[in-house]
Amino acid sequence: MDGTVSQALDDTALVEADRSTFFHPFTAVADQQANGALVMSQANGSRIVDASGNEFIDGAAGLWCVNVGYGRSEISDAIAAQSRKLPYFHTFNGVSNEPGIRLSEKLLSLAPKSMRRVFYGSSGSDANDTAVKLLWYYNICRGKREKRKIISRDYAYHGVSVASGSLSGIPMVHQNFGLPLDFARHVSRPDLYRDAPSRQCYTEEAYSAYLADELDRMIRAEGADTVAGFVAEPVMGTGGVLPPPRGYFQEIQQVLDRHDVRLVSDEVITGYGRTGTWFASEACGMRPDLILTAKGVTSGYLPLSAVFVGDEIWSVIEDASKDGRVFAHGFTYSGHPTCAAAALANLDIIEREGLVERVAAISEGFRASFDDAIGDCDIVGEIRSAGLMMGVELVADRETKARLPASAKVAGRVAMAARRHGVLVRGLPNSDIVALSPPFIVTQEEIGLLAGGLRAAIDDVTKELR
Ligand code: PLP
Repeated sequence: MDGTVSQALDDTALVEADRSTFFHPFTAVADQQANGALVMSQANGSRIVDASGNEFIDGAAGLWCVNVGYGRSEISDAIAAQSRKLPYFHTFNGVSNEPGIRLSEKLLSLAPKSMRRVFYGSSGSDANDTAVKLLWYYNICRGKREKRKIISRDYAYHGVSVASGSLSGIPMVHQNFGLPLDFARHVSRPDLYRDAPSRQCYTEEAYSAYLADELDRMIRAEGADTVAGFVAEPVMGTGGVLPPPRGYFQEIQQVLDRHDVRLVSDEVITGYGRTGTWFASEACGMRPDLILTAKGVTSGYLPLSAVFVGDEIWSVIEDASKDGRVFAHGFTYSGHPTCAAAALANLDIIEREGLVERVAAISEGFRASFDDAIGDCDIVGEIRSAGLMMGVELVADRETKARLPASAKVAGRVAMAARRHGVLVRGLPNSDIVALSPPFIVTQEEIGLLAGGLRAAIDDVTKELR
Protein backbone atom coordinates (compact mmCIF):
# COMPACT_ATOMS: atom_id res chain seq x y z
CA MET A 1 0.00 0.00 0.00
CA ASP A 2 1.45 3.40 -0.88
CA GLY A 3 1.27 6.74 0.90
CA THR A 4 2.39 5.45 4.27
CA VAL A 5 5.88 6.94 4.43
CA SER A 6 4.92 10.60 4.60
CA GLN A 7 2.37 9.83 7.31
CA ALA A 8 5.03 8.20 9.44
CA LEU A 9 6.39 11.71 10.08
CA ASP A 10 3.14 12.67 11.81
CA ASP A 11 2.76 9.52 13.84
CA THR A 12 4.17 10.77 17.15
CA ALA A 13 2.22 14.01 16.98
CA LEU A 14 -1.01 12.12 16.30
CA VAL A 15 -0.48 9.79 19.26
CA GLU A 16 0.25 12.81 21.47
CA ALA A 17 -2.87 14.64 20.30
CA ASP A 18 -4.92 11.49 20.85
CA ARG A 19 -3.57 11.23 24.42
CA SER A 20 -4.63 14.72 25.31
CA THR A 21 -8.00 14.96 23.51
CA PHE A 22 -9.64 11.63 22.63
CA PHE A 23 -11.85 9.75 25.12
CA HIS A 24 -11.95 6.19 23.74
CA PRO A 25 -14.75 3.64 24.25
CA PHE A 26 -13.95 0.55 26.35
CA THR A 27 -10.41 1.81 26.99
CA ALA A 28 -8.60 2.09 30.30
CA VAL A 29 -7.51 5.74 30.34
CA ALA A 30 -4.31 4.89 32.21
CA ASP A 31 -3.36 2.38 29.46
CA GLN A 32 -4.06 4.91 26.74
CA GLN A 33 -1.87 7.42 28.55
CA ALA A 34 0.93 4.90 29.09
CA ASN A 35 0.90 3.09 25.73
CA GLY A 36 -0.54 5.61 23.30
CA ALA A 37 -3.14 4.74 20.69
CA LEU A 38 -2.73 2.54 17.64
CA VAL A 39 -3.61 5.12 14.97
CA MET A 40 -5.11 3.58 11.83
CA SER A 41 -4.45 5.28 8.58
CA GLN A 42 -5.62 3.36 5.50
CA ALA A 43 -6.82 -0.05 4.41
CA ASN A 44 -7.45 -2.27 1.43
CA GLY A 45 -8.95 -5.75 1.18
CA SER A 46 -8.22 -7.47 4.51
CA ARG A 47 -5.13 -5.34 5.20
CA ILE A 48 -4.91 -2.21 7.31
CA VAL A 49 -1.96 0.13 7.82
CA ASP A 50 -1.25 2.31 10.83
CA ALA A 51 0.14 5.83 10.82
CA SER A 52 3.71 4.51 11.20
CA GLY A 53 3.33 2.35 8.10
CA ASN A 54 2.95 -1.00 9.88
CA GLU A 55 0.63 -3.36 8.00
CA PHE A 56 -1.76 -5.79 9.71
CA ILE A 57 -4.16 -8.44 8.49
CA ASP A 58 -7.49 -7.52 10.02
CA GLY A 59 -8.62 -10.82 11.50
CA ALA A 60 -11.57 -9.10 13.16
CA ALA A 61 -13.04 -7.10 10.24
CA GLY A 62 -12.97 -4.02 12.47
CA LEU A 63 -15.58 -5.01 15.06
CA TRP A 64 -17.13 -7.97 13.18
CA CYS A 65 -18.34 -5.64 10.45
CA VAL A 66 -16.13 -4.93 7.42
CA ASN A 67 -17.49 -8.02 5.67
CA VAL A 68 -16.75 -7.03 2.05
CA GLY A 69 -13.30 -5.78 3.01
CA TYR A 70 -11.78 -2.31 2.79
CA GLY A 71 -11.30 -0.13 -0.27
CA ARG A 72 -14.54 -0.94 -2.08
CA SER A 73 -14.87 2.01 -4.41
CA GLU A 74 -18.42 0.93 -5.41
CA ILE A 75 -19.56 1.79 -1.88
CA SER A 76 -17.53 5.00 -1.69
CA ASP A 77 -18.88 6.08 -5.09
CA ALA A 78 -22.48 5.33 -4.05
CA ILE A 79 -21.95 7.39 -0.89
CA ALA A 80 -20.47 10.28 -2.87
CA ALA A 81 -23.24 10.23 -5.49
CA GLN A 82 -26.06 10.08 -2.95
CA SER A 83 -24.55 12.76 -0.74
CA ARG A 84 -24.41 15.07 -3.77
CA LYS A 85 -28.00 14.31 -4.76
CA LEU A 86 -29.75 14.19 -1.37
CA PRO A 87 -27.31 13.80 1.54
CA TYR A 88 -29.97 13.70 4.21
CA PHE A 89 -33.61 14.03 4.95
CA HIS A 90 -35.65 12.62 7.80
CA THR A 91 -38.30 9.90 7.51
CA PHE A 92 -40.66 11.06 10.29
CA ASN A 93 -44.38 11.68 9.59
CA GLY A 94 -44.43 9.56 6.45
CA VAL A 95 -41.61 11.32 4.59
CA SER A 96 -39.43 8.94 2.59
CA ASN A 97 -36.55 8.74 0.12
CA GLU A 98 -35.63 6.50 -2.78
CA PRO A 99 -32.54 4.71 -1.35
CA GLY A 100 -34.47 3.99 1.86
CA ILE A 101 -37.37 2.53 -0.11
CA ARG A 102 -35.16 0.47 -2.38
CA LEU A 103 -33.19 -0.82 0.59
CA SER A 104 -36.37 -1.87 2.42
CA GLU A 105 -37.48 -3.83 -0.65
CA LYS A 106 -34.06 -5.44 -0.97
CA LEU A 107 -33.81 -6.36 2.71
CA LEU A 108 -37.26 -7.94 2.78
CA SER A 109 -36.40 -9.97 -0.32
CA LEU A 110 -33.40 -11.44 1.56
CA ALA A 111 -34.97 -11.92 5.00
CA PRO A 112 -37.13 -14.83 6.23
CA LYS A 113 -40.57 -14.70 4.60
CA SER A 114 -42.39 -13.88 7.86
CA MET A 115 -40.78 -10.41 8.00
CA ARG A 116 -43.09 -7.56 6.97
CA ARG A 117 -41.37 -4.19 7.50
CA VAL A 118 -37.95 -2.65 8.25
CA PHE A 119 -37.29 0.08 10.87
CA TYR A 120 -33.97 1.93 10.71
CA GLY A 121 -31.46 3.39 13.15
CA SER A 122 -27.70 3.80 13.26
CA SER A 123 -26.29 1.11 15.58
CA GLY A 124 -26.75 -2.34 17.03
CA SER A 125 -27.51 -0.76 20.40
CA ASP A 126 -30.35 1.33 19.00
CA ALA A 127 -31.68 -1.74 17.15
CA ASN A 128 -31.95 -3.48 20.52
CA ASP A 129 -33.60 -0.42 22.07
CA THR A 130 -36.09 -0.38 19.21
CA ALA A 131 -36.82 -4.07 19.85
CA VAL A 132 -37.46 -3.39 23.56
CA LYS A 133 -39.88 -0.59 22.72
CA LEU A 134 -41.56 -2.61 19.97
CA LEU A 135 -42.21 -5.42 22.46
CA TRP A 136 -43.62 -2.98 25.02
CA TYR A 137 -45.74 -1.14 22.43
CA TYR A 138 -47.03 -4.40 20.93
CA ASN A 139 -48.16 -5.66 24.33
CA ILE A 140 -49.75 -2.35 25.33
CA CYS A 141 -51.63 -2.26 22.00
CA ARG A 142 -53.03 -5.73 22.64
CA GLY A 143 -54.05 -4.86 26.20
CA LYS A 144 -51.21 -6.67 28.00
CA ARG A 145 -49.63 -3.70 29.76
CA GLU A 146 -47.88 -5.86 32.39
CA LYS A 147 -46.07 -8.03 29.83
CA ARG A 148 -42.79 -6.06 29.87
CA LYS A 149 -39.90 -8.18 31.13
CA ILE A 150 -37.31 -9.26 28.61
CA ILE A 151 -35.02 -12.22 29.12
CA SER A 152 -31.58 -12.48 27.55
CA ARG A 153 -28.51 -14.50 28.42
CA ASP A 154 -25.51 -14.16 30.71
CA TYR A 155 -22.48 -12.77 28.90
CA ALA A 156 -24.54 -11.76 25.85
CA TYR A 157 -23.60 -8.48 24.18
CA HIS A 158 -26.55 -6.52 22.83
CA GLY A 159 -25.10 -3.02 23.16
CA VAL A 160 -24.42 -0.35 25.74
CA SER A 161 -27.34 2.11 25.82
CA VAL A 162 -29.25 1.84 29.10
CA ALA A 163 -31.84 -0.54 27.61
CA SER A 164 -29.56 -2.59 25.32
CA GLY A 165 -26.88 -2.55 28.05
CA SER A 166 -29.47 -4.07 30.39
CA LEU A 167 -30.06 -6.88 27.87
CA SER A 168 -26.31 -7.42 27.67
CA GLY A 169 -25.02 -9.87 30.27
CA ILE A 170 -21.35 -8.91 30.35
CA PRO A 171 -20.38 -7.86 33.89
CA MET A 172 -18.28 -4.85 32.84
CA VAL A 173 -21.25 -3.40 30.90
CA HIS A 174 -23.34 -3.44 34.12
CA GLN A 175 -20.81 -2.65 36.84
CA ASN A 176 -20.37 1.03 37.66
CA PHE A 177 -23.64 1.96 35.93
CA GLY A 178 -26.23 0.39 38.22
CA LEU A 179 -27.46 -1.78 35.34
CA PRO A 180 -29.41 -3.83 34.42
CA LEU A 181 -32.68 -1.90 34.62
CA ASP A 182 -35.48 -3.86 36.24
CA PHE A 183 -37.18 -5.07 33.06
CA ALA A 184 -34.22 -7.33 32.21
CA ARG A 185 -33.59 -10.92 33.31
CA HIS A 186 -30.81 -13.30 32.30
CA VAL A 187 -30.59 -17.07 31.88
CA SER A 188 -27.49 -19.20 31.24
CA ARG A 189 -25.68 -18.92 27.93
CA PRO A 190 -25.28 -22.20 26.03
CA ASP A 191 -21.69 -23.12 26.86
CA LEU A 192 -21.03 -26.72 25.84
CA TYR A 193 -17.38 -26.54 26.82
CA ARG A 194 -17.76 -25.47 30.44
CA ASP A 195 -21.37 -25.27 31.55
CA ALA A 196 -22.83 -28.48 30.05
CA PRO A 197 -20.52 -30.90 31.92
CA SER A 198 -21.05 -29.04 35.18
CA ARG A 199 -24.83 -29.64 34.72
CA GLN A 200 -24.14 -33.29 33.96
CA CYS A 201 -25.48 -32.80 30.44
CA TYR A 202 -23.45 -35.19 28.31
CA THR A 203 -25.22 -34.77 24.98
CA GLU A 204 -26.07 -31.58 23.12
CA GLU A 205 -29.74 -32.54 23.14
CA ALA A 206 -29.75 -33.09 26.91
CA TYR A 207 -28.08 -29.71 27.43
CA SER A 208 -30.59 -27.98 25.14
CA ALA A 209 -33.44 -29.54 27.12
CA TYR A 210 -31.79 -28.40 30.37
CA LEU A 211 -31.46 -24.80 29.15
CA ALA A 212 -35.01 -24.70 27.81
CA ASP A 213 -36.23 -25.95 31.16
CA GLU A 214 -34.24 -23.23 32.93
CA LEU A 215 -35.98 -20.63 30.73
CA ASP A 216 -39.36 -22.23 31.34
CA ARG A 217 -38.80 -22.13 35.10
CA MET A 218 -37.77 -18.48 34.96
CA ILE A 219 -40.85 -17.48 32.96
CA ARG A 220 -43.12 -19.36 35.37
CA ALA A 221 -41.39 -17.84 38.42
CA GLU A 222 -41.72 -14.31 37.00
CA GLY A 223 -45.27 -14.97 35.77
CA ALA A 224 -45.79 -15.48 32.05
CA ASP A 225 -48.13 -12.48 31.95
CA THR A 226 -45.14 -10.25 32.84
CA VAL A 227 -42.68 -11.60 30.25
CA ALA A 228 -42.68 -10.00 26.79
CA GLY A 229 -39.63 -11.35 25.00
CA PHE A 230 -36.51 -13.47 24.80
CA VAL A 231 -33.52 -11.94 23.01
CA ALA A 232 -30.69 -14.07 21.67
CA GLU A 233 -28.03 -14.12 18.99
CA PRO A 234 -28.23 -17.25 16.80
CA VAL A 235 -24.49 -17.74 17.41
CA MET A 236 -23.37 -15.80 20.46
CA GLY A 237 -20.47 -13.52 19.49
CA THR A 238 -18.86 -11.34 22.11
CA GLY A 239 -20.16 -13.65 24.85
CA GLY A 240 -17.71 -16.31 23.69
CA VAL A 241 -18.43 -17.33 20.06
CA LEU A 242 -20.87 -20.03 21.10
CA PRO A 243 -22.80 -21.88 18.40
CA PRO A 244 -26.06 -23.23 19.83
CA PRO A 245 -26.13 -26.87 20.90
CA ARG A 246 -28.23 -29.16 18.69
CA GLY A 247 -31.95 -28.65 19.29
CA TYR A 248 -31.43 -25.56 21.48
CA PHE A 249 -33.61 -23.04 19.65
CA GLN A 250 -36.25 -25.65 18.78
CA GLU A 251 -36.64 -26.36 22.52
CA ILE A 252 -36.51 -22.67 23.43
CA GLN A 253 -39.09 -21.87 20.77
CA GLN A 254 -41.55 -24.35 22.29
CA VAL A 255 -41.18 -22.71 25.70
CA LEU A 256 -41.73 -19.25 24.23
CA ASP A 257 -44.80 -20.38 22.26
CA ARG A 258 -46.27 -21.96 25.39
CA HIS A 259 -46.00 -18.67 27.29
CA ASP A 260 -46.89 -16.23 24.49
CA VAL A 261 -43.37 -14.74 24.59
CA ARG A 262 -41.90 -13.23 21.40
CA LEU A 263 -38.45 -14.19 20.10
CA VAL A 264 -35.98 -11.46 19.12
CA SER A 265 -33.00 -12.63 17.07
CA ASP A 266 -30.02 -10.31 17.39
CA GLU A 267 -28.23 -10.79 14.06
CA VAL A 268 -26.04 -7.71 14.42
CA ILE A 269 -23.01 -9.96 13.86
CA THR A 270 -24.49 -12.88 11.95
CA GLY A 271 -26.71 -10.92 9.53
CA TYR A 272 -25.71 -10.76 5.84
CA GLY A 273 -23.55 -13.82 5.61
CA ARG A 274 -21.06 -14.26 8.44
CA THR A 275 -22.10 -17.85 9.16
CA GLY A 276 -22.53 -18.81 5.50
CA THR A 277 -26.24 -18.02 5.09
CA TRP A 278 -27.81 -14.58 4.59
CA PHE A 279 -29.34 -14.80 8.06
CA ALA A 280 -28.51 -17.34 10.75
CA SER A 281 -31.88 -17.41 12.56
CA GLU A 282 -33.68 -20.00 10.46
CA ALA A 283 -30.56 -22.13 10.01
CA CYS A 284 -30.32 -22.27 13.83
CA GLY A 285 -33.96 -23.31 14.22
CA MET A 286 -35.32 -19.91 15.33
CA ARG A 287 -38.70 -18.51 14.27
CA PRO A 288 -38.06 -14.89 15.25
CA ASP A 289 -40.67 -12.15 15.60
CA LEU A 290 -38.02 -9.45 15.25
CA ILE A 291 -34.59 -9.65 13.60
CA LEU A 292 -32.01 -7.02 14.51
CA THR A 293 -29.19 -6.16 12.13
CA ALA A 294 -26.48 -3.48 11.81
CA LYS A 295 -22.72 -3.88 11.13
CA GLY A 296 -22.77 -6.07 7.96
CA VAL A 297 -25.65 -4.18 6.33
CA THR A 298 -23.13 -1.53 5.24
CA SER A 299 -19.94 -3.48 6.09
CA GLY A 300 -19.29 -0.56 8.45
CA TYR A 301 -18.74 2.00 5.66
CA LEU A 302 -21.49 4.14 7.24
CA PRO A 303 -23.53 3.56 10.41
CA LEU A 304 -26.90 1.88 9.86
CA SER A 305 -29.16 -0.55 11.70
CA ALA A 306 -32.19 -2.34 10.31
CA VAL A 307 -34.84 -3.98 12.51
CA PHE A 308 -37.11 -6.48 10.72
CA VAL A 309 -40.66 -6.64 12.09
CA GLY A 310 -42.43 -9.98 11.64
CA ASP A 311 -46.08 -10.85 10.91
CA GLU A 312 -47.48 -11.07 14.43
CA ILE A 313 -46.06 -7.81 15.78
CA TRP A 314 -46.70 -5.95 12.54
CA SER A 315 -50.38 -6.96 12.40
CA VAL A 316 -50.93 -5.63 15.95
CA ILE A 317 -49.16 -2.35 15.09
CA GLU A 318 -51.19 -1.98 11.91
CA ASP A 319 -54.49 -2.63 13.71
CA ALA A 320 -53.60 -0.25 16.55
CA SER A 321 -52.91 2.52 14.05
CA LYS A 322 -56.56 2.37 12.99
CA ASP A 323 -57.37 3.67 16.50
CA GLY A 324 -54.92 6.53 15.99
CA ARG A 325 -51.97 5.00 17.87
CA VAL A 326 -48.47 5.95 16.74
CA PHE A 327 -45.20 4.13 17.50
CA ALA A 328 -43.62 7.32 18.84
CA HIS A 329 -40.04 6.21 18.35
CA GLY A 330 -37.37 6.93 15.77
CA PHE A 331 -34.14 8.78 15.21
CA THR A 332 -32.97 11.80 13.26
CA TYR A 333 -31.01 9.38 11.09
CA SER A 334 -33.70 6.66 10.67
CA GLY A 335 -33.72 5.76 6.96
CA HIS A 336 -30.74 8.05 6.21
CA PRO A 337 -30.53 8.13 2.39
CA THR A 338 -26.73 8.15 2.16
CA CYS A 339 -26.40 5.24 4.61
CA ALA A 340 -29.09 3.38 2.65
CA ALA A 341 -27.15 3.97 -0.58
CA ALA A 342 -24.03 2.54 1.10
CA ALA A 343 -26.04 -0.52 2.19
CA LEU A 344 -27.42 -1.10 -1.32
CA ALA A 345 -23.93 -0.96 -2.82
CA ASN A 346 -22.61 -3.29 -0.11
CA LEU A 347 -25.41 -5.85 -0.60
CA ASP A 348 -24.87 -5.65 -4.35
CA ILE A 349 -21.20 -6.63 -3.87
CA ILE A 350 -22.14 -9.52 -1.57
CA GLU A 351 -24.63 -10.84 -4.15
CA ARG A 352 -22.55 -10.19 -7.26
CA GLU A 353 -19.43 -11.82 -5.83
CA GLY A 354 -21.31 -14.67 -4.15
CA LEU A 355 -19.71 -13.82 -0.80
CA VAL A 356 -22.27 -15.64 1.34
CA GLU A 357 -21.60 -18.79 -0.66
CA ARG A 358 -17.87 -18.09 -0.35
CA VAL A 359 -18.10 -17.97 3.44
CA ALA A 360 -19.90 -21.33 3.41
CA ALA A 361 -17.30 -22.77 1.05
CA ILE A 362 -14.16 -21.63 2.90
CA SER A 363 -15.29 -21.97 6.51
CA GLU A 364 -14.09 -25.56 6.88
CA GLY A 365 -10.63 -24.71 5.55
CA PHE A 366 -10.54 -21.60 7.75
CA ARG A 367 -11.21 -23.75 10.78
CA ALA A 368 -8.71 -26.43 9.75
CA SER A 369 -5.94 -23.83 9.39
CA PHE A 370 -6.37 -22.82 13.02
CA ASP A 371 -6.74 -26.41 14.26
CA ASP A 372 -3.40 -27.12 12.60
CA ALA A 373 -1.64 -23.95 13.72
CA ILE A 374 -2.75 -23.64 17.36
CA GLY A 375 -4.58 -26.88 18.23
CA ASP A 376 -1.57 -28.24 20.12
CA CYS A 377 -0.78 -25.11 22.17
CA ASP A 378 -0.68 -25.80 25.91
CA ILE A 379 -3.05 -22.94 26.70
CA VAL A 380 -5.63 -23.54 23.92
CA GLY A 381 -8.59 -25.25 25.58
CA GLU A 382 -11.09 -25.15 22.73
CA ILE A 383 -11.48 -23.71 19.24
CA ARG A 384 -15.10 -22.97 18.26
CA SER A 385 -16.39 -21.66 14.97
CA ALA A 386 -19.40 -21.02 12.78
CA GLY A 387 -18.70 -19.79 9.25
CA LEU A 388 -16.11 -17.03 9.54
CA MET A 389 -16.60 -16.50 13.30
CA MET A 390 -14.11 -18.16 15.59
CA GLY A 391 -13.44 -18.21 19.32
CA VAL A 392 -10.30 -19.60 20.92
CA GLU A 393 -10.71 -20.29 24.63
CA LEU A 394 -7.45 -20.10 26.56
CA VAL A 395 -6.94 -22.17 29.71
CA ALA A 396 -4.32 -22.90 32.35
CA ASP A 397 -4.74 -26.67 31.90
CA ARG A 398 -6.22 -28.39 28.85
CA GLU A 399 -7.17 -31.56 30.75
CA THR A 400 -8.95 -29.98 33.70
CA LYS A 401 -10.04 -26.81 31.80
CA ALA A 402 -8.70 -24.83 34.79
CA ARG A 403 -9.02 -21.12 34.14
CA LEU A 404 -6.13 -18.71 33.81
CA PRO A 405 -6.02 -16.07 36.54
CA ALA A 406 -8.38 -13.24 35.52
CA SER A 407 -5.75 -10.72 36.64
CA ALA A 408 -3.37 -12.05 33.95
CA LYS A 409 -5.75 -10.77 31.22
CA VAL A 410 -4.37 -13.36 28.85
CA ALA A 411 -6.77 -12.87 25.92
CA GLY A 412 -5.95 -9.16 25.80
CA ARG A 413 -2.24 -9.92 25.97
CA VAL A 414 -2.49 -12.41 23.12
CA ALA A 415 -4.29 -9.76 21.03
CA MET A 416 -1.53 -7.23 21.81
CA ALA A 417 1.19 -9.79 21.00
CA ALA A 418 -0.57 -10.66 17.73
CA ARG A 419 -0.16 -7.04 16.62
CA ARG A 420 3.60 -7.51 16.84
CA HIS A 421 3.18 -10.41 14.40
CA GLY A 422 1.15 -8.33 11.97
CA VAL A 423 -2.25 -9.70 12.91
CA LEU A 424 -5.35 -8.11 14.48
CA VAL A 425 -7.54 -10.35 16.66
CA ARG A 426 -9.74 -9.46 19.66
CA GLY A 427 -9.62 -10.46 23.30
CA LEU A 428 -13.28 -10.64 24.35
CA PRO A 429 -14.33 -8.72 27.49
CA ASN A 430 -14.46 -10.52 30.85
CA SER A 431 -13.09 -13.71 29.36
CA ASP A 432 -10.04 -15.66 28.21
CA ILE A 433 -11.43 -15.93 24.70
CA VAL A 434 -9.77 -14.59 21.56
CA ALA A 435 -12.14 -13.94 18.66
CA LEU A 436 -11.58 -13.84 14.92
CA SER A 437 -14.00 -12.73 12.18
CA PRO A 438 -12.05 -11.79 9.04
CA PRO A 439 -13.62 -10.12 6.00
CA PHE A 440 -15.45 -12.53 3.67
CA ILE A 441 -12.84 -11.88 0.97
CA VAL A 442 -9.90 -13.03 3.10
CA THR A 443 -7.54 -15.12 0.96
CA GLN A 444 -6.09 -18.56 1.77
CA GLU A 445 -2.69 -16.94 2.13
CA GLU A 446 -4.05 -14.39 4.60
CA ILE A 447 -5.80 -17.12 6.58
CA GLY A 448 -2.42 -18.85 6.85
CA LEU A 449 -0.79 -15.62 8.01
CA LEU A 450 -3.55 -15.04 10.57
CA ALA A 451 -3.21 -18.55 11.97
CA GLY A 452 0.60 -18.31 12.04
CA GLY A 453 0.51 -14.87 13.68
CA LEU A 454 -1.91 -16.07 16.34
CA ARG A 455 0.32 -19.08 17.02
CA ALA A 456 3.34 -16.84 17.49
CA ALA A 457 1.35 -14.56 19.81
CA ILE A 458 0.12 -17.48 21.92
CA ASP A 459 3.68 -18.81 22.17
CA ASP A 460 4.96 -15.39 23.30
CA VAL A 461 2.35 -15.11 26.03
CA THR A 462 2.78 -18.74 27.11
CA LYS A 463 6.49 -18.01 27.69
CA GLU A 464 5.63 -14.91 29.75
CA LEU A 465 3.28 -17.00 31.91
CA ARG A 466 5.93 -19.60 32.80
N1 PLP B 1 -25.69 -6.78 19.21
C1 PLP B 1 -24.64 -7.56 18.94
C2 PLP B 1 -24.84 -9.03 18.76
C3 PLP B 1 -23.35 -7.01 18.85
O1 PLP B 1 -22.29 -7.80 18.61
C4 PLP B 1 -23.20 -5.62 19.02
C5 PLP B 1 -21.85 -5.01 18.92
O2 PLP B 1 -20.85 -5.66 18.82
C6 PLP B 1 -24.32 -4.85 19.31
C7 PLP B 1 -25.56 -5.46 19.39
C8 PLP B 1 -24.18 -3.37 19.54
O3 PLP B 1 -23.88 -2.74 18.36
P1 PLP B 1 -23.31 -1.22 18.36
O4 PLP B 1 -21.94 -1.26 18.89
O5 PLP B 1 -23.40 -0.85 16.91
O6 PLP B 1 -24.24 -0.40 19.19
